Amino acid sequence: MSQEHDPYQVVNPATEEVIATVDLAGPAAADAAIARARRAFESWRNVAPGDRARLLRRFAAEVDAERESLAALEVANAGHTIGNARWEAGNARDVIEYYAGAPERLFGRQIPVAGGLDVTFQEPLGVVGVIVPWNFPLPIAAWALAPALAAGNTVIVKPAELTPLTALRLAELALRAGLPEGVLQVLPGRGPVVGQRFVTHPDVRKVVFTGSTAVGRSVMAGCAARVKPVTLELGGKSANIVFADADLEKAAATAPYAVFDNAGQDCCARSRILVEASAYDEFMDRFERAVRGVRVGDPADEKTEMGPLISAAHRARVASYVDGDTEVAFRGGAPEGPGFWYPPTVLAPIAPDHRAFTEEVFGPVVTVVPFRGESDAVRIANATEYGLSGSIWTRDVGRALRVARAVEAGNLSVNSHSSVRYWTPFGGYKQSGLGRELGPDALHAFTETKNVFIATEE
Ligand code: NDP
Repeated sequence: MSQEHDPYQVVNPATEEVIATVDLAGPAAADAAIARARRAFESWRNVAPGDRARLLRRFAAEVDAERESLAALEVANAGHTIGNARWEAGNARDVIEYYAGAPERLFGRQIPVAGGLDVTFQEPLGVVGVIVPWNFPLPIAAWALAPALAAGNTVIVKPAELTPLTALRLAELALRAGLPEGVLQVLPGRGPVVGQRFVTHPDVRKVVFTGSTAVGRSVMAGCAARVKPVTLELGGKSANIVFADADLEKAAATAPYAVFDNAGQDCCARSRILVEASAYDEFMDRFERAVRGVRVGDPADEKTEMGPLISAAHRARVASYVDGDTEVAFRGGAPEGPGFWYPPTVLAPIAPDHRAFTEEVFGPVVTVVPFRGESDAVRIANATEYGLSGSIWTRDVGRALRVARAVEAGNLSVNSHSSVRYWTPFGGYKQSGLGRELGPDALHAFTETKNVFIATEE
């Protein structure tokens, strides 16, 4: 096998059947794509703001028209439930449409100075390399490519080997919408080959990486060596904090979906449930009923709430956290036979240093611990290297705000588990990441501020 011909078999994780073969790019193909993106940048940056906006709106309309087929493709490639996959395709459309409003609004400033005029410009960076993981292939690609393109950059997306199909479709839709060749490319390839080339190639001016903290750290180190800006969205070990005064029925009924959604393969998964000791038994009773009620099965079935894990290797990794040292309090069900199934699993009681309690499992495994009082809850919630999201359940508004301010995480919700809205900022504290995506400020991650002084004195 030559380095430039590397066929990769894409597998449906619910059936283990091969559904497509994709050629992975080698180093020469990566360099050629970067050169194309560099050439396309010269004209894309000069497309009039109103025209760039119009092209992005057309791109969003193409995604909208293909929502159902994109969703079906994600069900087949990633094992996402059809309900989730539809939301994800809609989210990609919304993000592109939201940033289509940006080109005409990418304002600079006029700053008072003596002897002239001082203005700032938000200039595009050039070629942006986006490295996408397999857990949310469509939204994560869109969160980076939409603001980057709106700001006048050209983009190359490297999808995860396991899940390239919807990103490839997105690139076709961009062309169909009229985006010029080379403005948005999707280049399947191996992380250490194509992803690394984004890090090392001098013409890639920014890297956006979503994935594991270990790889993110090495991407950041590689970018540091070249003083290349980088946005990182990494792992999480988020806390779902339930106080005794909360609506316990609602807290318990929703807790499974806050961690088992997407089979737990979600960086925002609330994989540590912290329950006030006085409500622990009552919560666990209700939680057990809710966990046993989670519908695990064929992701194409409208009623299914949880599908399979992404691969056999990942299932083995998830299973390694459920060892003989800790107690499975209770479990949901999972289909037998082909497919990378793993049942929703609740570990309790658990020692605070057990790796299932400290590490990101990225599967349907949740740990539950009791706490005593507000400061104890905050202490446990913050006793992690991660800080991405979290939930707080209480009827006391003051406490909700105190705890929300005290938990070191970028995205918190009170009496809810929502984390992601395309118009609000998203990102992590500590080793959960660097920078913010989405919302009004994400554009600044894809521009340089240029200051220009024009003398007016004769
Ligand atoms: P990785 O971090 O390895 O993969 C994420 C992306 O980075 C993929 O596109 C991958 O390419 C690419 N990549 C891998 N190595 C390099 C490299 N040296 N340079 C540049 N890019 C690279 O995650 P895994 O798929 O291995 O998942 C392992 C664990 O990471 C999960 O169990 C979970 O805990 C965590 N994770 C967290 C995510 C999050 O959203 N926070 C998302 C995914 C994983 P490719 O795989 O195609 O080779």
